[in-house]
Amino acid sequence: MLNLEKIKKAAKIVKYSNYVVVFTGAGISTESGIADFRSVDGLWSRYDPDIYANYYYFLQDPSKFWKMQKEVDDLMDISKPNLAHFAIAELEKLGKVKAIITQNIDMLHQKAGTGENGASIFQLHGEYGKLHCVQCKKEFKIGEVDTKNVDYPVCECGGYIKPKVVLFGESLPPGVFDAAMRAATEADCFIVVGSSLVVTPANMLPGIAKQSGAKLIFVNKEETELDYLFDISLKGKASEILTELVKLVKKQN
Ligand code: NAD
Repeated sequence: MLNLEKIKKAAKIVKYSNYVVVFTGAGISTESGIADFRSVDGLWSRYDPDIYANYYYFLQDPSKFWKMQKEVDDLMDISKPNLAHFAIAELEKLGKVKAIITQNIDMLHQKAGTGENGASIFQLHGEYGKLHCVQCKKEFKIGEVDTKNVDYPVCECGGYIKPKVVLFGESLPPGVFDAAMRAATEADCFIVVGSSLVVTPANMLPGIAKQSGAKLIFVNKEETELDYLFDISLKGKASEILTELVKLVKKQN
């Protein structure tokens, strides 16, 4: 059951804000068929991310990572944005959302139209569709490298090729976190959608926004240890809550 009173309060905050920043995690894409790390079924129940999505293990033996990645590739090819992604793009059209910070690599925000009305997108954990050699750093586009008919792709220099996504144990793409921090400090409203807020340093951003004076709204299925930070916490499906929120923001305009 949607808590309409709370959503109304959240809509009021959005209405009176001029610089909304949205921070998203894997939970926003579960309704697009991409499992988050908390799901009991789905991809991650078969591939423990601590092993299969770990840079240290990748360097030891990339075949494990690529076994998982081939399934991820198939999933990414067919996944489509859901109503939650579209609602955020709609808030950008209304002139509210100025930046999206995402932990996701799935590019579903872009597919929903985010960025088309001037919002910046900060992809903290890299993006799907680009690859590089971990040794000579040569870059490749997806499709330029045969990843299907081999155990794992190898560069002409002999180095292992991996997608430009951040694995556990790897540092974030240079500059992206600083830019995301700047956006968080600019925000007058900071909305978190579908994140357990356990992955660092990304989980520092709501606190940074709050310290800079932003109102904090949280849309998530489950409680997290950082719920206490938020002015409004909306529990339930992101697609339903955000669709209602956008409806109310439009009504109040
Ligand atoms: P997480 O898996 O740790 O937590 C997801 C949160 O979303 C949970 O608290 C869950 O209750 C909530 N949730 C699930 N479905 C929801 C829905 N329909 N509506 C609202 N809330 C919902 O995710 P995280 O905090 O992003 O951290 C996991 C890491 O995994 C990130 O670093 C991310 O890069 C990576 N990851 C990305 C993808 C992707 O690109 N889609 C998928 C899996 C994991």
